[in-house]
Amino acid sequence: MSKSILIDTTICIGCRACQVACKQWHDLPAEKTKNMGSYQNPQDLSFDTYKLVRMNEEIINGRLRWLFFAEQCRHCVDPPCLETASDETAIYRDAATGAVQYTKETQKLDADEIIESCPYNIPRKAVDGTLAKCDMCNDRIHNGMKPACVTACPTGAMQFGDRDDILALAKKRLGKVKKKFPNAMLLNPDDVSVIYLVGFDPKFYAEYAVASNDRGGISRSVALRKMMGPFARMMRV
Ligand code: SF4
Ligand code: SF4
Repeated sequence: MSKSILIDTTICIGCRACQVACKQWHDLPAEKTKNMGSYQNPQDLSFDTYKLVRMNEEIINGRLRWLFFAEQCRHCVDPPCLETASDETAIYRDAATGAVQYTKETQKLDADEIIESCPYNIPRKAVDGTLAKCDMCNDRIHNGMKPACVTACPTGAMQFGDRDDILALAKKRLGKVKKKFPNAMLLNPDDVSVIYLVGFDPKFYAEYAVASNDRGGISRSVALRKMMGPFARMMRV
């Protein structure tokens, strides 16, 4: 049975314990950062940062909201990055867990083409062109443990388990959350193994928070905000 993660952003407090746990488990180096006037730090994912809590401050329906979005690879059910690579020595999906794995062989691929193919803009390249991203802590899963980020979360915003159980939990949780946040939704639940529950329109959380599945399969959906530029912010869409 493949595995899934539920990330309920409505109870994420933005503590970044998941971000730190991911670095620790993968022994990834710290990166120099600078204060950009926001809680979010660092500014983006990188070859050495697989998990990032994005933070946005928004006024929605006249009320100030702090929105946290713990970004990582979604481990797509039919991963566009894998299809683009068509080289199983470089990118493959673990048959037991469903976790999408990148190897050193990604160096042979066209890195920019792989990044562009990802609906969620997740993979990042090193200077030599090798690609990296979240591996779902596949080694931990095969040893009976939960992913490091899930274990570290103090509020239970992240849950891990068999896909059917997580899908059922996500739907149940959505029903509850909708009583408080009527526009709450699950993001591409049938297409990904890392399922986000958001309380508001996904465009408020991250540019590539949700993928389009208009064309049979998931592809990049550029947020309405980006298309509308500064007008979006004025209109609060
Ligand atoms: S989210 Fe992107 S990097 Fe992750 S499996 Fe899907 S296409 Fe690949
Ligand atoms: S599942 Fe593992 S690799 Fe992926 S973000 Fe969480 S800690 Fe990092």
